[in-house]
Amino acid sequence: MAKPKKTVQKKVIESILAERFRQDQKWGPRRNLTLAHWHTILSEEVGEVAEAVLDVGHGEIYGPTERTAALFAALKAELVQVAAVAIATLEDLESR
Ligand SMILES: [Mg+2]
Repeated sequence: MAKPKKTVQKKVIESILAERFRQDQKWGPRRNLTLAHWHTILSEEVGEVAEAVLDVGHGEIYGPTERTAALFAALKAELVQVAAVAIATLEDLESR
């Protein structure tokens, strides 16, 4: 049975906020980046999503392995990072 939508949304948003916090801890709250820098960072993260999708895709073709759950977790983490970088870019734009 599918999980309730609000429960899923809450978990996803909390994951993104936790990643935003982690990013600020790592890089500082005000990074003063150009839009080109933000775009490059976002594109790098999107590329990592593509890599993670390929990794998961092997399981879809050849069947699940003992690594399947970890690969899905890695894909989710990369998607969260994409969302968090997009939010960081929006935060930067809003603060200008
Ligand atoms: Mg990443």
